[in-house]
Amino acid sequence: GTGASPSDKRVLLLKPRGFCAGVVRAIDIVNIALETFGAPIYVRREIVHNRHVVNELAEKGAIFVHEIDDVPDGHRVIYSAHGVSPAVRERSKGRNLKVIDATCPLVTKVHIEAVKFAKQGYSLVLIGHRDHDEIEGTLGEAPQVTQVVSSAAEVDSLQVPDPNRVAYLTQTTLSLDEARDIIHALKEKFPNIVGPHSQDICYATENRQVAVRNVAHNADLVLVVGSTNSSNSNRLVEVSRNLGTKGYLIDDSRAIDPAWLEGVNNVAVTAGASAPEVLVEDVVNYLRQNGYASVEEVEVMPENVRFGLPPEIVQAIGGAG
Ligand code: SF4
Repeated sequence: GTGASPSDKRVLLLKPRGFCAGVVRAIDIVNIALETFGAPIYVRREIVHNRHVVNELAEKGAIFVHEIDDVPDGHRVIYSAHGVSPAVRERSKGRNLKVIDATCPLVTKVHIEAVKFAKQGYSLVLIGHRDHDEIEGTLGEAPQVTQVVSSAAEVDSLQVPDPNRVAYLTQTTLSLDEARDIIHALKEKFPNIVGPHSQDICYATENRQVAVRNVAHNADLVLVVGSTNSSNSNRLVEVSRNLGTKGYLIDDSRAIDPAWLEGVNNVAVTAGASAPEVLVEDVVNYLRQNGYASVEEVEVMPENVRFGLPPEIVQAIGGAG
């Protein structure tokens, strides 16, 4: 027959995958803060959008809160990798909190652009997902002049005081294809629109999408390790599905439905920027045990970005000797 024989079944392990430099840095910051200052350490929102990471840090004494008002006076609070609005910074000051900022430097870059464009009198179009922590923070830099759009269709109804003075920015974790379509629609509507110096979609988002795009046609199924609230992980599933290859987002191997593997020879495995490698290993082991004997790593491009720690943490380590 034409059915899969065990020897045909293989795993294509995409590279780059998993943790980006901003996530490594954010998790390091929480761990170092816990070691240096001791528990409890408060963290505003999920430090990164991964359930396993958050649970593990909570076990070590991190307390995750929704808002600054949920942190007791005078305590230490860490801002998540997705960044915060100026209003949140103000509230922390008012509450005498000791702040450690784990905002990814590539998110901060977008905030700085928002401030710059707003100062220059531009109306801002922020391309992104309204309910995402990052958009809440970026929007807060210039809320009076910023509008959020999440699809090309929404561009139609945009209204601005001066169509010749419009700038766009994007969330760091968008789909490259979708962002391109939305920017295209914006350029049609506002021919003089200006954008960021280099794209706001970050290197990690781009590289993981390009890897899926390169390998999806060789796979019958793409499994993306990541949590449901992880923006960049969801985009990886979309990239695969848009190319006609089945794709699913899974927190870990327990989320795999054995029915997905029926008649499937090649399974590509990748992970979103907030998903730990140990969960990828867990998924690969599950597949091995289910007949996918060969595991091939497919490196689509090299990646070696690192970010330094914020001054609050550098000082704390120095102070602790
Ligand atoms: Fe920073 Fe990109 Fe990672 Fe987000 S996904 S934390 S922007 S490097």
